Amino acid sequence: MANPKYAAATREIPQATDAGTLSDGTKIRIRAPRMRACSLKDEKGKLCAGHLKRWYFFGDEVKKLYGDNAEIYRCERCKSLYLPNPEEQPRSGTLSF
Ligand SMILES: [Zn+2]
Repeated sequence: MANPKYAAATREIPQATDAGTLSDGTKIRIRAPRMRACSLKDEKGKLCAGHLKRWYFFGDEVKKLYGDNAEIYRCERCKSLYLPNPEEQPRSGTLSF
């Protein structure tokens, strides 16, 4: 074994995680906390960095997966979908419904 002190080379930068793919090939990802730009890379390894914008026009497939009023964001460049990070939800959850 090498010196374990230097084994952890990965930096702790929050990353978006893949959540699946729609039937049309659209990627679904879960945002890292406070993430505002797309972190997908193209086949050349270039960062997309498109802005994530709230998106309301998702189709039935997304509705089936995440509900009619799902909070969905979409990258304005590569059109990948992003879900909010669960850790980002306000903790003062008012149950007003
Ligand atoms: Zn993108």
